[in-house]
Amino acid sequence: MSDRRDGPFATVEYFQDLYGWKPPSKFIVCPTCEGSGSHVNPDIDRNGLTRNDFDEDPFFEEDYFSGRFDVSCYECNGVRVVEEPIFGLMTESQIEEWLEYLEGIAQDRAERNMMLRGYQF
Ligand SMILES: [Zn+2]
Repeated sequence: MSDRRDGPFATVEYFQDLYGWKPPSKFIVCPTCEGSGSHVNPDIDRNGLTRNDFDEDPFFEEDYFSGRFDVSCYECNGVRVVEEPIFGLMTESQIEEWLEYLEGIAQDRAERNMMLRGYQF
């Protein structure tokens, strides 16, 4: 299972670094933290938690839901919004570059997820 929080993220900024131009963009609510600005550290529950994890340690459950393990959102860094390109204002070839960029990010993400789960390449 892939965990969105682990990134890497397809940000307009990173795209600009790679491709040398910035797509027209607007701000949207961060899809990773859904606008809260923080999320549970994925090191805690990346592999999923079960009722058992909580039953074995009631303090852990309390901490977990109190936000003790929360970190600033990895995607928006706590800003709660992220930039998203506006396809309607882009040419076809610009959109193609963006889609190519997304594919690269998806691949990086898949590899990173495998590595975090202990797979070797
Ligand atoms: Zn966020």
